[in-house]
Amino acid sequence: MAEQTIKALLEQFHEIAADPRKQLDRYLAEGKKVVAVAPVYTPQELIHSMGLVPMGVWGGDMEVNAAKEYYPAFICSVMQTILELGIRGAYKGVSAIVIPSLCDSLKCLGQNWKYAVKDIPFIPMTYPQNRRKEYGIRFTMSGYERVINNLEAVTGARFSEPALAASNEIYNEHNRVMREFARIASEAEISAAARSDVFKSAWFILPEEHTSMVKELNRLLKEGPRAENKKRVLVSGILADAPALLRLFDENNIKIAWDDVAGESRQYRTDTPVMENPLEALAHKFAAMDCCSVLYDSDKKRVDQIIADAKEYDVQGIIVLMTKFCDPEEFDYVLIKKACEKEGMMHLNIEVDRQMVNYEQAGTMIEALKEML
Ligand code: SF4
Repeated sequence: MAEQTIKALLEQFHEIAADPRKQLDRYLAEGKKVVAVAPVYTPQELIHSMGLVPMGVWGGDMEVNAAKEYYPAFICSVMQTILELGIRGAYKGVSAIVIPSLCDSLKCLGQNWKYAVKDIPFIPMTYPQNRRKEYGIRFTMSGYERVINNLEAVTGARFSEPALAASNEIYNEHNRVMREFARIASEAEISAAARSDVFKSAWFILPEEHTSMVKELNRLLKEGPRAENKKRVLVSGILADAPALLRLFDENNIKIAWDDVAGESRQYRTDTPVMENPLEALAHKFAAMDCCSVLYDSDKKRVDQIIADAKEYDVQGIIVLMTKFCDPEEFDYVLIKKACEKEGMMHLNIEVDRQMVNYEQAGTMIEALKEML
């Protein structure tokens, strides 16, 4: 019985993850204004606190045509497909798009967006490299203030500190529930595809709606069957949502026991502290974030975190899903590889691209890894 209920609930997550346009239309029909949030750490709390619906845009698995006019061929497909979808009108009805400045490709996206998608205003969020010092926190706060001013001008919505304090709490609660889901899913019987749906769906509905769905799923998964006789891996990268790729994990009996994926667990590691000024608190959250390729860290603690997580969640191998032409991830890979070798940990680097249709090579690599684990 519990298995049937889990299946039905997972089906709901899948429907949301697979059809963001349906969610966008639902919010628009309810009279809500929707603001697109580009990767990686766009301050959704701000947008939410103003009564707007933040909705993630991470591109899609598709061929790029129109966006080629704006980008050279050697730029990541996440950026290319976000712009492609914008040009094709996939985000029609959205009031604005907020794009952060955390990598060079993201900086280009904002500039190209202004010319390519004229009906959806671009709002930049400029983050500092040195985010921890007092001046870094002030810089982040001034970036947030600019986003607020632009959102007020574009949407007519109003900002208030009490509303932001309430939104910070809602997002902290969502973080907690998602961290719990990742821990439970590490032991429970849940496919790689279904696990991905739970993370991906979070981008397309309000956090309070997602929190209540995930709470119920967590309760059921705790009571449901355990994953048995699977090879356990940790997956790292920017994205891990391509259905054809996830199928390879499931077909090869490989369980994603933990992740270090930008679109998944990296989002939920850090909470906003409670402070008198909730905007300052949000800047402190950004300052406290770490262990991510796009966040400046001369010590590269991300690598230590991956190895520590691999041990804690008892994985047998690490699979890096390398987004093609993603400089921040490529720089980190050398260190991840060295750390795995030092620990005697099996590892694999699979290049992924939103335009990829053929996962044959990835399939061969995953099969070979399975034999070795
Ligand atoms: S971090 Fe990587 S995948 Fe993300 S926008 Fe930058 S280059 Fe593209």
